[in-house]
Amino acid sequence: MAGLTFHGAVEGVTGSAYLLQTKRATVLLECGLVQGSPKAEKANEKPFPFAVESIDAVVLSHAHLDHSGRLPRLARDGYGGQIILTRATGELLEIMLKDAAYLQKKDAEWENKRRRRAGKREIEPLFTEQDVQQILAQCEEIDYGRRWPVAPGVHVCFRDAGHILGSAIVELFIDEGGREQRLVFSGDLGNSEAALMRDPEILTSADAVLMESTYGDRNHRSMEDTLDEFRGIILEAGATGGNVLIPSFAVGRTQEVIFRLGEMYQQGDLRQQAVFLDSPMAIAVTEVYHRHHSSFNSEDRDQMRQSHAPSLHKFLPVLRYSRSTEESMAINRLSEGAIIIAGSGMCNGGRIRHHFKHNLWRQRTHVLFVGYQASGTPGRALVDGVKSIQMGGERIAVKAAIHTLGGFSAHASQAQLVDWVNHFAKVRPRLYLVHGEDDAKLALRERLAMVGWDTVIAAQGQTVTL
Ligand code: ZN
Repeated sequence: MAGLTFHGAVEGVTGSAYLLQTKRATVLLECGLVQGSPKAEKANEKPFPFAVESIDAVVLSHAHLDHSGRLPRLARDGYGGQIILTRATGELLEIMLKDAAYLQKKDAEWENKRRRRAGKREIEPLFTEQDVQQILAQCEEIDYGRRWPVAPGVHVCFRDAGHILGSAIVELFIDEGGREQRLVFSGDLGNSEAALMRDPEILTSADAVLMESTYGDRNHRSMEDTLDEFRGIILEAGATGGNVLIPSFAVGRTQEVIFRLGEMYQQGDLRQQAVFLDSPMAIAVTEVYHRHHSSFNSEDRDQMRQSHAPSLHKFLPVLRYSRSTEESMAINRLSEGAIIIAGSGMCNGGRIRHHFKHNLWRQRTHVLFVGYQASGTPGRALVDGVKSIQMGGERIAVKAAIHTLGGFSAHASQAQLVDWVNHFAKVRPRLYLVHGEDDAKLALRERLAMVGWDTVIAAQGQTVTL
C-alpha cells in the first residue's frame, strides 16, 4: 500500500514537503523553505525528517522558495537523483536559488563578524552557490500534459496551475500490483482573475487530492474594483506629478503590474514618461516571462498582439530596466513623473528602501502596495500609517499617500478553491487540506462541508494510506 507523509506546510503555509512511499519507490513532492520569523526559519537547519538516500525522485510544482528553497540542502545531504519540473520553473528556480544563496552568504558573513567579536563559533550559510549548481544540474524539465515515468511504478503529469509562470498541478499515477491510483496535488492554485496566467486546469478524477488553502477563509476584492483604484492612483499621480513607488515581489506580481500599466499606456491613459523596473532579479524574471509568453492566457496575449506588442517591454514602451547601482541611483534625480517598481515586496530589503529615503517625505509621492505585508515589516508599518520610518540610519518622515490594493493575488480565493475541487464531485476522492494557516483550513473545511465534502486537515508528520 502506498503511503503519503505530510512533512511541511502543515502548520502554516511554508516549508512544503510531502513524501510518497510505495513498495517500490519513494518520491518527494516539494522541498520548501520555512519562511517567517528568524525563530521559525531555524527549522531549515534541522536535518530532513526522512532518509535522503531513500528518495528516488523529487517532483516540484513551482519555483517559489516555500516550495523549492531547501532543494540545495537536499543536494548537500547527498541527493543525486532528478528534480522533475516544467521548463519555466527550471529557469525561475535558477534565478531564485542563486539569489537565495547570495543572501544566505551575506547573512552568514554579517553574523560571523558579530560572532568573532563575541568569541563564538562561526556559522555556515544554509546552502551555497555550489549546492545550487548541483541541484540545477539534476533538473529534468517536462512539458504540461505529458505523462512521464519518475520512479519504479510512478508516473507524473503536470497541469497548468495558473499561479506563476511554469506553475503546475501535479498528477501522480501510482501503480502497485496492477491497480493504478491517482494522487492530485493542487500545488498553489492561481487566481483566475489575475493577468497573464491561464486559469487553473480543471481535473475531474482522482483517488486522493491534496489542496492548498492559503485563501481558504477569504474571497478577493473584485478585479474590476481593484483596477479602478489602481488606475485612479496612477492618473492622479500623473496629473499632480508625484512619483509612484510600487514595492513588488520579483515573480508574478511585478509582471502583472507591468501588464496593467501597459494596458493604460495602450489606451493613452498613462501620462508618466518612465516606468523603472529597479531590480536585477525582477528584470531577469521578466525576461523569463517574455521567453514563455506563449503560455500566457489567450485574452491577454490577444490584447498584446492587437497592440503589436509581443513582449511586456513593447506593450509598455516606457518601461526602463535599471540593472546597475548607478542606474538605480540616477532615478533619485527625478522628483516627479516616474513610476518605480522595486523590491523587496515587504520593504525589508532591496532598492525600494533607497527610493523611500528620497520620496517618502514628499507630499506628492504615492506608494502603492500590491501584495501582502507581514507584521513586523516596514511595509506593514507604512500600511498601518506610521508618521516616520527608519531607513538606512535616517529617520524619514512619511508625507506620501499610502495605498493598499487588496485585489491583486496569485492565489485562488475560497470560492475559486471550492469551484476547482467540485469538479471532482462525481466520484469524490479523499481530500486533504494543506498549505494554509489553521483559520484558513478550518473555514475552508466548513465551507466544503456545506457542499457535501468530508475533508481531512493533515497533521504534521502524519502518514495516510492511499
Ligand atoms: Zn507559490
